[in-house]
Amino acid sequence: MNGVVVKSTGSWYLVRTEDRIVHKCRIRGKFRMEGIKSTNPVSVGDIVDFDLEPKKETGVIDKIHERTNYIVRKSVNLSKRTHIIAANIDRAFLLVTIDNPSTSTSFIDRFLVSAEAYHIPVTILFNKIDSFNEETKELKNELEEIYTNIGYDCIEISAKQGINLDEVKELMKDKVTLFSGHSGVGKSTLVNTIEPGLDLKTLEISEQHKQGQHTTTFAEMHPLSFGGYIIDTPGIKGFGMVDFEDVEIAGYFPEFFELKQNCKFHNCMHIDEPKCAIKAGLENDTVAPSRYFSYLQIIKGEEEHFRQDVYTGK
Ligand code: GDP
Ligand code: ZN
Repeated sequence: MNGVVVKSTGSWYLVRTEDRIVHKCRIRGKFRMEGIKSTNPVSVGDIVDFDLEPKKETGVIDKIHERTNYIVRKSVNLSKRTHIIAANIDRAFLLVTIDNPSTSTSFIDRFLVSAEAYHIPVTILFNKIDSFNEETKELKNELEEIYTNIGYDCIEISAKQGINLDEVKELMKDKVTLFSGHSGVGKSTLVNTIEPGLDLKTLEISEQHKQGQHTTTFAEMHPLSFGGYIIDTPGIKGFGMVDFEDVEIAGYFPEFFELKQNCKFHNCMHIDEPKCAIKAGLENDTVAPSRYFSYLQIIKGEEEHFRQDVYTGK
């Protein structure tokens, strides 16, 4: 039989088949996925083959289908190993609000960079459009222009008033999706409007910085009544931590990608090298100042911080 892992407790996996039945499964003793050194061989989101054990209701997983992507967290105890949080994520929705709370461009860009690194498509949802005034609307338009120009789909919504949620649901139908964004941007409101009664743990604790408190939490997938799943990653903010090599970072800024072929030095870091095409792009407005600022911040390993002024750049 074939199904998707919707929950894992470490030793047991709940596998949901197409006929919506959930089977409690374990894995065969020595079974290991080739190529990935992880503490958990099977993760939430994995598509697996399993056989029911004779005379029992439990199953045994004997094959994992190839993953389209997966998000990881460094294992706390075994330094070289990673814990796979979730696999086969079709889309991440990043909720952004202009004020109350304001979402910084550096927060957005870090999220997008992680998503690029993980090969997860992102749609940006500008929420609370019902409460816009002239100024916040203008700021939203500026952001929307920046992100649409570089290839990210943006939808303006009101989770509260149900504006444009059909568009969001359309993207979620039969897909595995994940919601992220600062506390207070409206994730619970949105999820509750889309699927009343769902109780996601991520939404409660996403903003608590519980670093240092390494409680093991397992992701879970919640089926949607109209088809598809929402993935819940308790205790993990955004995608968790991604370790980037400095040279890779520019590759996760889509608008840098083509430009950087024209840098004088093939190993240009776009910081203070001469004849840098990215910096030239800044001069002629093909690169948004806020994006370049985020790039420098990530390269320098600076913590994300709020900077209202980077919305408008310059
Ligand atoms: P979360 O922390 O991301 O889960 O955010 P919540 O869903 O708890 O929302 C935080 C606050 O924003 C609540 O007071 C919501 O009522 C409010 N809120 C959420 N969506 C909207 C919206 O579309 N418009 C307005 N005006 N307020 C909203
Ligand atoms: Zn350069």
